Amino acid sequence: MPAITADPLTLPRLARPSLGQTERPVKSVTTAPTGFEGEGFPVRRAFAGARPADLDPFVHMDQMGEVEYSPGEPKGTPWHPHRGFETVTYMIDGTFAHQDSHGGGGLITDGATQWMTAGRGILHIETPPAELVESGGLFHGIQLWVNLPRKDKMTAPRYQNLEGSGVTLVASDDGGALVRIIAGEVDGHTGPGSTHTPIALAHATVAPGARLDLPWNRSFNALVYVLAGTGVVGSKAQPVHTGQLVVFGAGEHLVISADPNQDSRTPSLEVLVLGGQPIREPVAQYGPFVMNTRAELIQAMEDFQAGRLGVIPDGALMPHVVGRTAADGPPISV
Ligand code: MN
Repeated sequence: MPAITADPLTLPRLARPSLGQTERPVKSVTTAPTGFEGEGFPVRRAFAGARPADLDPFVHMDQMGEVEYSPGEPKGTPWHPHRGFETVTYMIDGTFAHQDSHGGGGLITDGATQWMTAGRGILHIETPPAELVESGGLFHGIQLWVNLPRKDKMTAPRYQNLEGSGVTLVASDDGGALVRIIAGEVDGHTGPGSTHTPIALAHATVAPGARLDLPWNRSFNALVYVLAGTGVVGSKAQPVHTGQLVVFGAGEHLVISADPNQDSRTPSLEVLVLGGQPIREPVAQYGPFVMNTRAELIQAMEDFQAGRLGVIPDGALMPHVVGRTAADGPPISV
């Protein structure tokens, strides 16, 4: 799991919780069902089964892979629209090429994060680059949807590309866990990503047998998703494994411990920790649109069909098909 790594012993340390601080209790543990996204890449639906009110301000999260593709197999999504929220794509292993109808785009690879504010409307494509389709290889990432409040749903689209080297690295108080802060603030350390809706997002690697006490903004919700490995969470040491989501209750810090013995393929417990300021507004979602009301969803579909969410640029990036050349024309009709 490359992401970005460092020797925790050389990093700034998180504060050890003081006696008066409250540990967040475990509210629920749910197991993500598996499915397929886009043109057929395997995902785990991280949030399926959790209460939407506990997830707010997040609406959806997919763990993409982890999958080892054979040559010709890598897949992504064709061009598609969004309105009313922000997408965050964090690539742990492998590469996604991205392009949108507002001129944003680039490669997201090994520890990089791409942040796209769809706002009032955007079209985009996320697809493995031609070389990766030809070669096959490891592919593992996260796509998170962060909701926008009513006042920001029709904001102008925006694109941010955060290289893996830009994440803020800190260690647990005894150096047993590495924490990569991708966005927001954790214990006074600020990551590079910023969203309209205040959130914090971190990827932690907890060494076998180590314990991470993570200070967490008390006004944010707190979710832990297990990317790989096994461990326990909370003061009652509730077991968790790959593909499980933990919802924590109120408090000031959360506790995540890695089992002493881990799978040889994933030697440490790998978790994504995320939370944000709940929006507490009605959510109406249909496919790629997240609005407040059904009428706004119908408007979004009409606007998409009329081309008001954007148009596919000339010479646009298209999914690569093995053996196809430019002379064959576009690989799919859109
Ligand atoms: Mn998308």
